Order: sequence, then C-alpha cells, then structure tokens
Amino acid sequence: MRIVFIGPPGAGKGTQAAKMIETYQVAHLSTGDMLRAARDAKTEVGAKADRYMSAGELVPDQIIIDIIAERLANPDCRKGYLLDGFPRTIAQAEALDAMLAKKGAPLSVVLELRVPEEALFTRLSGRGRADDAPDVIRRRLVAYRKQTEPLLAYYNQKGLLQTIDGLGTVEEIFDRVKTVLDRVG
Ligand code: ADP
Repeated sequence: MRIVFIGPPGAGKGTQAAKMIETYQVAHLSTGDMLRAARDAKTEVGAKADRYMSAGELVPDQIIIDIIAERLANPDCRKGYLLDGFPRTIAQAEALDAMLAKKGAPLSVVLELRVPEEALFTRLSGRGRADDAPDVIRRRLVAYRKQTEPLLAYYNQKGLLQTIDGLGTVEEIFDRVKTVLDRVG
C-alpha cells in the first residue's frame, strides 16, 4: 500500500503513523523526521531547512521534493510506504504524481486525520518541541490552512481521499484508520 497521511500539526499523526507502519509493514517516510535528522547532522540542507522550521514556515518545495525523490528510490519502498508530512503543497503533490506515474506505482489512498483547530493548539502547547512556541504554532497552523488544506480537494477529485475523525482515544482512532486501510488494501 502507498499511503499519504495528511493532518494539521498536533492532530496525532505521529502516533497513528507508528501504529500503521507496525501493522501494515510499510516504510515510514516522515519529512519532518528527515529534516530534523539533516539539521542535527549539520548538513547544508539541514541548516537551510532549520531556518524555515524554527519560524513555523514550510521548507521550499524543491528541497523537500529532492529529499523525497531520493528516499522513494530506496528498495525498502517497494513493500509500500506511508508518506507522513508530504506532500504539504499542491506543487509537492504534483511533483509526487509525476514521480509515481514514472514508476507506474500510483497512491493507494490519502488519509486525512481531521481535528478541530481549538483542540490542536492545546495539544501542541503541551508538547515542548522547539517549534511548539505559541507564535510558531500559530504560523504552522496558518501554513496548514493556506498551503496544505487545498490538497484535500486535490485528492478528493482523484477519488483518493478518506477522512478520519481524529478525536477520541488512540485506539478508537486507529480502529477507524484500520477500517479504511483494510478496505483499500
Ligand atoms: P508538524 O506536522 O507537527 O508541523 P513535522 O514534523 O511534520 O511537524 O514538520 C516540522 C516542520 O518541518 C514543518 O513545520 C516544516 O517547516 C518542515 N516540513 C516538514 N515537511 C515538510 C514539507 N513536506 N514541506 C515543507 N516543509 C516541511
């Protein structure tokens, strides 16, 4: 299965992603994790990305697209993968479509984890990551609304979108995820 996982910051994507990769044995491709690893390794790309991440802004499309293109070429992606945090803009989604068309391996499903904005702010403020300061959180939520939410219509038009209610216990939400994925794949 080739899955795209979309949801606002604080929706609980990381928790559900961990359960999904364990249950469905797919590779986990988290662009947030990849960028943080690049930053910690003090690579040139990492240093550049860090400036955007600390400000709560999206890293430029081309940087992310190059990272993902390289990662998708890894043999472990043949068993399927979960794209977590990518694509986040229409330009990224179009680049992904082009890559997958070339490989002849289209997406199986796009999962949206939906959580009302009021709940997100409270969850993020309790987390303590460097980019979880209140004004940075606000900017990340705005970036989601403006740049990422348009992807929902994009994928809905392609018949790929499945929306999951992200309120409830971890297990309740994972049951909803499984119901969708078991139907798909
Ligand atoms: P969250 O979803 O909680 O905001 P992530 O770990 O997915 O956190 O991403 C952290 C930061 O990394 C984002 O705020 C953004 O700056 C950058 N980032 C991650 N993925 C992308 C992407 N696909 N496009 C642009 N920037 C990205």
